[in-house]
Amino acid sequence: MKEIDWSNLPFGYMRTDYNVRCYYRDGKWGELELCSEETLNIHMAATCLHYGQEAFEGLKAFRGKDGKIRIFRPEANAERLQSTCNGILMPELPTELFCEAVRKVVKANERFIPPYESGASLYIRPLLIGIGAQVGVHPAKEYLFVVFVTPVGPYFKGGFATNSYVIIRQYDRAAPLGTGIYKVGGNYAASLRANKMAHDAGYACEFYLDAKEKKYIDECGAANFFGIKNNTYVTPLSSSILPSITNRSLMQLAEDMGLKVERRPIPEEELATFEEAGACGTAAVISPIERIDDLENQKSYVIAKDGKPGPISEKLYHKLRAIQYGDEPDPYGWVTVID
Ligand SMILES: *Cc1c(COP(=O)(O)O)cnc(C)c1O
Repeated sequence: MKEIDWSNLPFGYMRTDYNVRCYYRDGKWGELELCSEETLNIHMAATCLHYGQEAFEGLKAFRGKDGKIRIFRPEANAERLQSTCNGILMPELPTELFCEAVRKVVKANERFIPPYESGASLYIRPLLIGIGAQVGVHPAKEYLFVVFVTPVGPYFKGGFATNSYVIIRQYDRAAPLGTGIYKVGGNYAASLRANKMAHDAGYACEFYLDAKEKKYIDECGAANFFGIKNNTYVTPLSSSILPSITNRSLMQLAEDMGLKVERRPIPEEELATFEEAGACGTAAVISPIERIDDLENQKSYVIAKDGKPGPISEKLYHKLRAIQYGDEPDPYGWVTVID
């Protein structure tokens, strides 16, 4: 194998040796299959292709200083996938089967797990799709669960740094009673235009307000938002945001650090009051926010006055990464160690 330049890996797809597959047929899940083929051969009338019966997940495996491999909170991803399955009428995959598939695919691709020193990791992408042929709008009778992996570089190549965002009102990512709380591809299709607008205008990502009133903060691109002020970690409560496992973990760590944690609607104007803010998710853990612009109202909420990440965000970021890499104890049993 050609040597991989671990510290310069992009966030992109690289072929690995194996993926794991599991079919749902005749009302039950089958055996896990290890597969080296990259493509899927599915029926052209599969429900995933026409009616969006598609769910996905995202998590990571890390190589520790001790050489051990650690997977971060796979049970939480399994449970979120079950919730998504419920939301779009797909059969739930049992937590144990999900975790076993993840372990199997990570183990089989062990040579693609970046070394500890690189700051890189192995991204794990599970997906579950309706493959049964259907033309009428009904859930499929057959499904395929696939897990593939790809090594990804450290998110912050030049060190932990801030980004700026722009509020987009022209497009909604998800409706208040829609599929925003589920991890489905359709939400991403709905976000592509807003995302392009933000990128074209030179921003890191688009920033969403609630779809109904355009008054409260929803999501920060495909990441959850949190703000910090008066020793309090504040994150939105909304019926259209994806429950981020990173956010849930940060809330716990914030509490352990002696911060108060609030989950409540956050009006846009409150952005002016935060001492620190960040976007959180598996890809970056925390992407600290420098500024959020509201172009239509000629407003700019400058959060990081000196352009640098704040001390609490920095502490939370390092704490979570330390648990993921096994540098610090894992008091909540978040990490699955495989050897
Ligand atoms: C996956 C995702 C997140 C982040 O969730 P994590 O579990 O922390 O990776 C946030 N928002 C959206 C829309 C997502 O799809």
